[in-house]
Amino acid sequence: MAAMNRLLKPSPISSSAVASLRRCLSTATASESDARLKSPSYSHGSLHPRADPKGRNVQWVFLGCPGVGKGTYGSRLCALLGVPHIATGDLVREELSSSGPLSHQLAEIVNQGKLVSDEIIISLLSKRLESGEAKGESGFILDGFPRTIRQAEILDEVTDIGLVVNLKLPESVLVEKCLGRRICSECGKNFNVASINVKGENGGPGISMAPLLPPPQCVSKLFTRSDDTEAVVKERLRVYYEKSQPLEEYYRNQGKLLEFDLPGGIPESWPRLLEALNLDLDGHEEKHSAAA
Ligand code: AMP
Repeated sequence: MAAMNRLLKPSPISSSAVASLRRCLSTATASESDARLKSPSYSHGSLHPRADPKGRNVQWVFLGCPGVGKGTYGSRLCALLGVPHIATGDLVREELSSSGPLSHQLAEIVNQGKLVSDEIIISLLSKRLESGEAKGESGFILDGFPRTIRQAEILDEVTDIGLVVNLKLPESVLVEKCLGRRICSECGKNFNVASINVKGENGGPGISMAPLLPPPQCVSKLFTRSDDTEAVVKERLRVYYEKSQPLEEYYRNQGKLLEFDLPGGIPESWPRLLEALNLDLDGHEEKHSAAA
């Protein structure tokens, strides 16, 4: 129990953990910020329409409530931009499915919808960046990190984030999306069995999302995340509003926040997102149309 309390308590981050993150990030970044300074067309981190999106080594962050689609749109953009999609939730799930010393405590925290300590997240992120560096990765889109102001401050101490995309959906859609989420245990792709039809509020547009069904080879291998139950999703949303929503103001003040209200499912949202990012799809769309 003492170990559990230690994990739940916001612990001070050791200088060695921050130094390790700084070391990893200094090599993971080949300067989007340099490109930004040199490019007159750069606007809130978007790309010049005619620039080849690959090789720009963007360092972007995806913010948004659980279930909003950070993983879906983050991984699609990463494929387009040639940078790794690094989701700290995936790192946590990998750790808890291992037989490592933290797995039991992590499972308890995650299944309560709470946040794990900054120290552990920084350590998992550093390890992930280190292994990526060994494979020659550069740039990234971070999904699920930072999640607290403290994590954002640490990130700012060690690197320069070019753009923060804040994805938004009404809360009723978020809950339905989390409850409908299914993951293939073999290929790791996310699907969704929910058929969403939410009326607009106060004269605003409604939202419809068709289910994103798996291909036949994945059907028998689908599982539901243990933290995608209604009670835990509601707690994750509460934690998000308390700890993560203040990040919107933090990045707005830095002039890095791009707000994006998702208009519907992937077919409606993906082209609009690319437009908002000023990204040119020529020659790239076909390759990514199958991504979940
Ligand atoms: P996600 O897949 O992003 O919903 O994350 C799943 C769970 O992993 C969260 O509910 C947290 O318990 C944990 N987690 C992921 N990222 C972080 C983070 N940056 N800080 C603290 N806990 C995190």
